[in-house]
Amino acid sequence: MLEVRALRKEFGDFVAVDDVTFSLPEHGSLAIVGESGSGKTTTARMIAGLESPTGGHVVVAGEERRPGRARAVERRARGRRIQMVFQDPYSSLDRRQRVGDAVAEAVALHRRLPADRLRARVAELLDMVGLDDRQARSLPKALSGGQRQRVAIARALAAEPRVLILDEAIAALDVSIQAQILTLLARIRSDTGTALLFITHDLGAVRHISDDVLVMRAGRIVERGPAAAVLGDPQDPYTQRLIGSIPKPGWKPRRRTDGAAA
Ligand code: ATP
Repeated sequence: MLEVRALRKEFGDFVAVDDVTFSLPEHGSLAIVGESGSGKTTTARMIAGLESPTGGHVVVAGEERRPGRARAVERRARGRRIQMVFQDPYSSLDRRQRVGDAVAEAVALHRRLPADRLRARVAELLDMVGLDDRQARSLPKALSGGQRQRVAIARALAAEPRVLILDEAIAALDVSIQAQILTLLARIRSDTGTALLFITHDLGAVRHISDDVLVMRAGRIVERGPAAAVLGDPQDPYTQRLIGSIPKPGWKPRRRTDGAAA
């Protein structure tokens, strides 16, 4: 579904992404992890066509990504291959548009359907992400963060993409909502074959979200493999440090003896 070869991005004389190569099969899931500034988002943006690479290749569902501005027809075709969901769903939703209309707009962009079939498809997508009729008639401000993120996922799925990129898309949500959304994504992956690419700084969440993991540091891949292996037996000192900094279950902020939080 996705082939990335020798991807590189320079900003002036700063190299943000350096020689990144990996692939993602149909039904696959991969997490790119690394601390802030390691080049994860820049890599994702190049794959989604939002940023042009300085070098290397991106092939999505057999089509090589061409540099430069795409025409509307090509952008729509690209949208059917790859979609990206961002951390803050509120900023990507139109505040004056009802949720059902927002999803209908995304469907209509990719498929010309008669009104009754469009309504049915919108209902199907909303149902897939666990939103009901009442929420479909609401404006984004009437929804919770988790519900808004579901709307963003429904809009992305409207294009029936072969690859879905989630850039810190669930990081800001409550743990219980995160779990619901991860369950939802796992179901979508098995039902539709859509491959998932997660971008996250949260190494602790990786084993719940993806089969494979790729660790980035200063623009380069320093370690890769099945999530369980990388987390259970990290080889690279950087990965070991990242894992060492995950709070353990039951972790509490340390307190000073005078009772104030340290
Ligand atoms: P975070 O988790 O904080 O989002 P990240 O791993 O996603 O970090 P990137 O956003 O890919 O990191 O940034 C990688 C590096 O590239 C950073 O040092 C950043 O300052 C730099 N960078 C990103 N975009 C630009 C830009 N448009 N111009 C100049 N430098 C940039």
